[in-house]
Amino acid sequence: MSEIRVLSREVSELIAAGEVIDRPASVVKELLENAIDAGATNITVEIKNGGRTYMRVTDNGKGIAPDDLPTAFLRHATSKISQKDDLDSIMTLGFRGEALASICAVAKVDVLTKRKDDSYGTHYAIEGAEEKTSEQCGCPDGTTFVVRDIFYNVPARLKFLKKDSSEANHVADLVTKLTLSHPDISFKLIRDNKTELLTAGDGKIYSAVYSVYGREFANSLIEVDYTWQGIHVHGHAVKPLEAKLNRKFQNFFVNGRFVKSKACAAALEEAYRNNIMVGKFPACVLYIDVPPNTVDVNVHPTKIEVRFSDEKLMHEAVYFAVKNALMERDAPREMVLDK
Ligand code: ADP
Ligand code: MG
Repeated sequence: MSEIRVLSREVSELIAAGEVIDRPASVVKELLENAIDAGATNITVEIKNGGRTYMRVTDNGKGIAPDDLPTAFLRHATSKISQKDDLDSIMTLGFRGEALASICAVAKVDVLTKRKDDSYGTHYAIEGAEEKTSEQCGCPDGTTFVVRDIFYNVPARLKFLKKDSSEANHVADLVTKLTLSHPDISFKLIRDNKTELLTAGDGKIYSAVYSVYGREFANSLIEVDYTWQGIHVHGHAVKPLEAKLNRKFQNFFVNGRFVKSKACAAALEEAYRNNIMVGKFPACVLYIDVPPNTVDVNVHPTKIEVRFSDEKLMHEAVYFAVKNALMERDAPREMVLDK
């Protein structure tokens, strides 16, 4: 008898889901990115017990057509790209069509959604990739996802979750990054019935930074705005004397997406070299706009790591932008006025 067999859909879905969803925060990340891609200007995230038992993301975006709901939960089903060439010019946060399929493989999901021009909304429920409910209902324009009991069917994964407070902190960190990357969206985070973060969504980076990190931090920043060979770097960096005790406050957003990039981090630290005390680290909220075809966001399913077609150029752009901002600040006043 043959020893090799093709895994059942249930098992292969569970394996694939593990790539995308490893903790409550990864569910919230995917749902938030979908809400942003749907054009929402108002997004509420609510979690209970670190997200383990309950996560809700409500948006006022464009909603999902009733007929599209079952498809949305299939793997590789997306409305965001359709052909190979589209991969070179991705402007949305999602495009893999894997998130909803992964979430519904490891949790119980309810969706309430309504498009602006529809008279009714739809309530759709799915559990273990199996449809439970699909019915008309009244609801506001936009989409609400409720995800309950993550990993209820994967005890091994459930065991690996950290304390509720630690899982909740991961969610809060993530909401923070998205808040900073989208100052034009009003975000609300409710944690165990308590509102923890509320942002204005007035489009101003300063107000987003203020809501997230507080007044003292917001007032310790200098402005960065510089273009180097087609790369526009703007945002804020910390005054050298107000540098931080760790690297937690280094935020880079490439084309609106929070990223981890060694090139950017190294360039930042190089720009501050000899400017800050030993044991202190620069902080920043920097937005880097590059032509989409020079960045490969396709490296990892969670898309936090990116690769640039020219890492050196990226390094230079961040370095010069920050260095320039620091030098302008230190320059005698006449020189600044001279500019
Ligand atoms: P992707 O985001 O990569 O396209 P997902 O599995 O996250 O894949 O979502 C599948 C599809 O479901 C999306 O392409 C989109 O059309 C739809 N969708 C998901 N969430 C929302 C939402 N909050 N509002 C509107 N449409 C949504
Ligand atoms: Mg998505």
